[in-house]
Amino acid sequence: MIPELLAPAGNLERLKWAVAYGADAVYFGITDFSLRSFAGNFTLADAREGLGYLHKNGRKGYVTLNIYPFSNEYDELMRTAIALDEMGSDAFIISDLGVIRELRNLKLRTPIHVSTQANTTSHQAVLAYRDFGAKRVNLARELSFEQILEIQSNLEGEGVETEVFIHGSVCFSYSGRCAISDYLTGRMANRGDCTQPCRWQYTLEEEKRPGEHFPVFEDERGLYFFNSRDLALFEFVPRLAEAGVASIKLEGRMKNIHYIAAAVSVYRAILDGKPISEADAWEQLGRVNNRGFSHGFMKGNITAQDYAVNDAKYQSTSIMMANTTEQMHDGHRVCVVKNTIRSGETLEMLTTDGISSYTLPNPIINIDGEPLERANNQDTILLDGTMPSYAVLRRVEPKTSCS
Ligand code: SF4
Repeated sequence: MIPELLAPAGNLERLKWAVAYGADAVYFGITDFSLRSFAGNFTLADAREGLGYLHKNGRKGYVTLNIYPFSNEYDELMRTAIALDEMGSDAFIISDLGVIRELRNLKLRTPIHVSTQANTTSHQAVLAYRDFGAKRVNLARELSFEQILEIQSNLEGEGVETEVFIHGSVCFSYSGRCAISDYLTGRMANRGDCTQPCRWQYTLEEEKRPGEHFPVFEDERGLYFFNSRDLALFEFVPRLAEAGVASIKLEGRMKNIHYIAAAVSVYRAILDGKPISEADAWEQLGRVNNRGFSHGFMKGNITAQDYAVNDAKYQSTSIMMANTTEQMHDGHRVCVVKNTIRSGETLEMLTTDGISSYTLPNPIINIDGEPLERANNQDTILLDGTMPSYAVLRRVEPKTSCS
């Protein structure tokens, strides 16, 4: 069985890009249960539209409700769940046992998927969640491939599915069990609201030496911390499929359409058995912002190489310059510019059909029909009518990002 490809979406636009590039299901968060709203979540109106779009395209929509609520927040959360259930959500992603219990009492139609935030590391725990009513459990990112195999081998015929995070950012702490974001920004990881401050660059200042900043880095005893490299586990996909994992999940609800297009297309190709070499996969994944890549716990243990302690910056081998939209204007494809582009410039183009190159018209014509030598961020320009929708135009940088 080919596992489901589950992609993130922080807004409706990203949801549509995930669908275009071949995600089988999309997950998103909700702002509307009186908890803190922040960028990258859907309103209930967005959720209705998003679920409608997904279902029209034969895909599924899972709603992340994986906070650990306080007692006085359950009622609002349940009201939100009822509304989402009526809209036809295909799963609720839950961490908290109290939420699972309350949802079961409501006897809603929407299945329960247990979130990675629940840190499930054994088949016994998976079966316990099944007994509580879960249909699927996302296994903890802190498991090796052998441990996943062991869990999977004990679940045959047990009526519960597993899901594995396959790509994207990981916590330096045990997934989400961390208060740095809350402490520094007031946004709590256990409310699905982490600002990822473990990836910021830190220095140490000794009390009697104000202004003298010492970098925080690994020592020879392995005291390394902060800034985990991103997971990229595409090499494990065939074996996870063979083991019976039902779904592979991409991290990144806050990430942009370029990330979604690049990551979904690579994993879609691998799941569909399309010819894509390891070198090509690394190259395509490295085209979008990352912290360097790692196999994390999947390879059995964590080493210093899994942390990018000396290079806290994002890296990528390309810059997104523009993207096409679904819109046409007077027979031309409407395109939104993200960075300054020059007329006649040749860029790499990522589409749902693969990678090619594209030379911009000379001059570039904007939406008002004006000729331009260059176009800048947020300009809307017109390209050839044969250009596909959901295309990314990017400038390839010579430096390499994969480690
Ligand atoms: S700050 Fe980093 S380690 Fe802590 S929850 Fe956020 S991503 Fe995870």
